[in-house]
Amino acid sequence: MHVLITGGAGFIGSHLAEYHLAQGDQVYVVDNLSTGSLANIELLRGNPAFRFAEADILNWGELGRAVAWADRIYHMAAVVGVKKVLEDPVAVMATNMTGTEKILRAIHGGGWNPQVIIASTSEVYGFNAKDSFAETDDIVLPSGGRLRWTYAVTKLADEFLAFSYARKYGLHIAVVRLFNTIGPNQVGHYGMVVPRFVRQAVCNKPLTVYGTGEQTRSFCDVRDTVVALDGLAGCPQAWGEVVNVGNEQEISIRDLAELIVRRSGSSSALRFVSYRDAYGEEFEDVSHRRPVLDKLRALTGFAPEWTLAETLDDLIERERGKNRRVA
Ligand code: UDP
Repeated sequence: MHVLITGGAGFIGSHLAEYHLAQGDQVYVVDNLSTGSLANIELLRGNPAFRFAEADILNWGELGRAVAWADRIYHMAAVVGVKKVLEDPVAVMATNMTGTEKILRAIHGGGWNPQVIIASTSEVYGFNAKDSFAETDDIVLPSGGRLRWTYAVTKLADEFLAFSYARKYGLHIAVVRLFNTIGPNQVGHYGMVVPRFVRQAVCNKPLTVYGTGEQTRSFCDVRDTVVALDGLAGCPQAWGEVVNVGNEQEISIRDLAELIVRRSGSSSALRFVSYRDAYGEEFEDVSHRRPVLDKLRALTGFAPEWTLAETLDDLIERERGKNRRVA
């Protein structure tokens, strides 16, 4: 199979690339390296089945040819991370919406019909106060132009672009709402909690818990995520549909911090930081974010293999390895 991955040097994209190369597929990655990095694909670049283009999806001259070549497209290119979104909402709007439309236009315009995954996010559930979310639950977004919700709004627009193309033109597109995903290659610069806590614990620095730490999240190992995405892309019943992808195990951020300290044998303390100090403004955090995965299970038989403890142990070990290399 020929697999095109936009944003393929990013965290999840690079795992998709590795997964498909291991299956013997040909993989073509395009990434502008804004949040992705060459380090994520370094080990793949020697593989003759792997090709990389450093380009922005918004003006990539090869887009038409790459789309024609592909049997499957994972559209993962997006500006992500709370910090980045607050810093540059204009870039978020352009990349996340125009980029998606360009891909879909190129597919339909060329008369192609590859299997397509469009990456959306659990952020689209917005401020809905439920503690777990099924695909049919309401989207609750505040009005008044609060930029914190830019990411959710762009991703919601992407979902409707995908549904429109799928239903009007019969394209084979599945939309995935990705819940918190963790694993190797994820970096903490954009605010993601697990790489930040792991690094802080391994360096014996205080773990920065934002707010009370009572907010909860459910973390899915990226190596389970890619299996789910592969299953959905190839599943005709998923085309034209939106499906949650994540893990149902839930943990509070405070318990997560304590667990990471314990498993790493760290001497770090927890440091509670207000949202204002953390994000530079009053930030509306989501209290609970747990996916209902009935639809994913029904479509693909998904069962995650990694427990949170196993993923954390792996990440702690890798972080120690990085420190040893630097030392
Ligand atoms: N968080 C934290 N300390 C950090 C980074 C994040 O306590 O150093 C919190 C953050 O406020 C949120 C949770 O951890 O409640 C998950 O944050 P992340 O940005 O990883 O994911 P998201 O908020 O998008 O679910």
